[in-house]
Amino acid sequence: MKKWFRIAGLGSALFLPGLLFAQQSTELPALKQDAVTEVDRLQTFTQQMVDQIFSYSELGFQEVETSRYVTGILEKNGFRVERGLAGIPTAWVATYGSGKPVIAFITDLDCIPRASQRPGVAYHDPMVEGAPGHGEGHNSGMAVNVTAALVLKKLMEGHKIAGTIKIFPGVAEEILGSKAFYVRAGLFKDVDIVLGTHVWHEFSTSYGTGDGKWSGLVSVQYFFHGKAAHAAGAPWDGRSALDGVSLMNAGWEFRREHLRLQQRSHYVIINGGDQPNVVPSEAAVWYYFRELDYPHIKSLYEIGNTMADAAAKMSDTTVDRKLVGSAWPPFFNKVIAEAQQKNIETVGMPKWSEADQTLAKALQKEISAKVEGLKEKIEPLKEPEKNPIGGGSDDVGDISWSVPMVYLMYPANIPNLPGHSWANAVSMATPIAHKGSTAGAKVQAMTALDFLLQPELVKQAWDYFRNVQTKEIHYESFLAPEDKPMVEMNKEKMEKFLPQLKKYYYDPAKYKSYLEQLGISYPTVKAQP
Ligand SMILES: [Zn+2]
Repeated sequence: MKKWFRIAGLGSALFLPGLLFAQQSTELPALKQDAVTEVDRLQTFTQQMVDQIFSYSELGFQEVETSRYVTGILEKNGFRVERGLAGIPTAWVATYGSGKPVIAFITDLDCIPRASQRPGVAYHDPMVEGAPGHGEGHNSGMAVNVTAALVLKKLMEGHKIAGTIKIFPGVAEEILGSKAFYVRAGLFKDVDIVLGTHVWHEFSTSYGTGDGKWSGLVSVQYFFHGKAAHAAGAPWDGRSALDGVSLMNAGWEFRREHLRLQQRSHYVIINGGDQPNVVPSEAAVWYYFRELDYPHIKSLYEIGNTMADAAAKMSDTTVDRKLVGSAWPPFFNKVIAEAQQKNIETVGMPKWSEADQTLAKALQKEISAKVEGLKEKIEPLKEPEKNPIGGGSDDVGDISWSVPMVYLMYPANIPNLPGHSWANAVSMATPIAHKGSTAGAKVQAMTALDFLLQPELVKQAWDYFRNVQTKEIHYESFLAPEDKPMVEMNKEKMEKFLPQLKKYYYDPAKYKSYLEQLGISYPTVKAQP
């Protein structure tokens, strides 16, 4: 209860806010209904945000247009914006209101390399060949959170509801590049509840370790340094940095058999030298080491470092490394998840049209996935999986170990897709994403109201955080003091494609939707044989 007394002040002030809360919490169902109505009124706004950010297609750390656009909207609507947080140019926070509780929204901004895709088309059809695209659907999250925040602001003003709303962007989530730095910079120190949200094909939330398909990770680049020489004329004078990379990878492949089954590790060679007749003096490889918890991730990372040092010895080269990203496996708050689940059930799945289902089924068929269209039912809140097997990662994990948090999955994409690919971009500027984002915004607004109006619920969420979640496990960052966010990453890739992508930026002044601007008839599917 400490937090609440601190903000409530002294003496009679202790009673007044209590009275106010009691009154407001009896109003809660009506306020939630107002929130739903207001979100519905903003449907066009939400749709245009989804489409606009889809058209920007910006890679991690280069979310320049996206950030300018979103913060512009927020500033115009009376939010205070601070930019350049945690040493990251595209990181910012937008704030409205004052006092406790402080409710923070967060969602990602960045897209996927080579995932460029014309929306509403059920086969591979890039907008710009080789360009980045929203092949995960991060273009929709800000539409969800900003819509919810605008509605909350209106309700808070109209009903004199105390509290603060903050909106954060998930910068460079695809490279797990920002949120451990946010936590290190203390951005969540005064925050009571974090409502994160992420695109998915289900409408669901979870608590604890959820479905057990999350891993934490460190992402690290190894730079080998050798000695250049004529590869035919004087190879004995050279030392190949690429040999170092190849030996490290070979070593890792042998070691892989003797690691826990829960690990996932993968690498790409980011520099393999320049041309074959020059012994490569520089080469580099980028590893993701994933495991289920901090000690196992750390030990995997250490094995990687040993492997790199040994490979350098074998090839008579040297090696150094740079941590690119890190993430704790997320752990979500049961109290918030239970409140959120009720709101999900109240809102219900969007009503999919025949066109939506046709697109979904045609795409599933096209990529040889199970053909079952879009989900029509809501999943119940499940007990966390007892034997997690691991899977993908999300750097919101670090936030979830710093403050009570949940992750709302809203239904804006098609089931059974491979993830991180053009296929996952197909629905992301179509009515599927628009309707799913509107549904998500309703739940975000309603869940925020739950915590703005019921201080007891905030206390319960913190009890769970302190006495269950972090009773035995304490957050420790993977970041070393000298680690800095890799803000230069993706700069060249983005600069290369920017002139072509710019031609396709969505213009809502001229076109009702991005589909209309691109002249795509919805849905576009291959003729049935
Ligand atoms: Zn994501």
